[in-house]
Amino acid sequence: MASVADQITEMKKRRKAVILAHNYCLPEVQDTADHVGDSLGLSLIASRTDADVIVFCGVTFMAESAKILNPKKKVLIPEPFAACPMASMCTAEQIRDAKRCHKDACVVGYVNSTASAKAEMDICCTSSNAVNVVSSVSEKEVIFVPDMNLGSFVASKVPSKEIILWNGYCPVHQAITQQNITDLKGKHPDAKVMAHPECRADVLSTADMVGSTEKMAEYAKASAAKEFIAATEIGMGHRLAKDCPGKRFYFPEHAVCSVMKMTSLQSILKALETMSPEVVIDHDTRERASAALKKMTEVK
Ligand code: SF4
Repeated sequence: MASVADQITEMKKRRKAVILAHNYCLPEVQDTADHVGDSLGLSLIASRTDADVIVFCGVTFMAESAKILNPKKKVLIPEPFAACPMASMCTAEQIRDAKRCHKDACVVGYVNSTASAKAEMDICCTSSNAVNVVSSVSEKEVIFVPDMNLGSFVASKVPSKEIILWNGYCPVHQAITQQNITDLKGKHPDAKVMAHPECRADVLSTADMVGSTEKMAEYAKASAAKEFIAATEIGMGHRLAKDCPGKRFYFPEHAVCSVMKMTSLQSILKALETMSPEVVIDHDTRERASAALKKMTEVK
């Protein structure tokens, strides 16, 4: 009997499918994927692929972004209940309320948000380009949703803007403390510290670099250092170990995103066999969300 991974390879050919997996997915899922990356990188691949079917291994907002950017493709999400808790902290209705309270403000929204929330945003951003996106808008007042930590980081870099922070956060990055980093640094004094901007400000203050998971991979590859402490989700360790042979990476042990671990080889195979669950977004929401995402890609 062929292994599940071999069956996926076979079904993938038959369906003319491409498998995309986030850096936080289980190692075996990353190893089965055609592309592994962060949400922006994977969305861009999804927007350009000539495959008939996109299987998105990650959380639901990422699969929605793939559908928004490439609406003609069939996008499958093997685990349709893998919803990011931070994305759930900001609804379309809440953004409409905030806009009513701050009529002159521009809404800048992190891509870690639902399609219906994106439809209410003026422009989207990622953790890589958030500073540039906020700098680019003409309004002085900016409602930044949903991540207060990324918003605070941006506010520190763009003091000319009045940033109205949202009360959202990633529970995984929020749970990483400065003490966690100090403890790891005590065990690995020569390690460079890399921190995701979803971490709290006191954690970011300990870091040698602050950036997205893709920026971490670039930094670790280019650095002469041999050891790194990564203040982000533990799944990134698999990717970093593959990209940087001979280097060592240490994570806070509790930095585990349970929704990112939901996708399994079995659920990928089932999605390919049944061609479901499929991501469906109504036309109006998709058009408006797409405008906010496309505006982001125009920012240099
Ligand atoms: S790591 Fe945080 S932001 Fe990413 S999917 Fe998990 S809860 Fe959401």
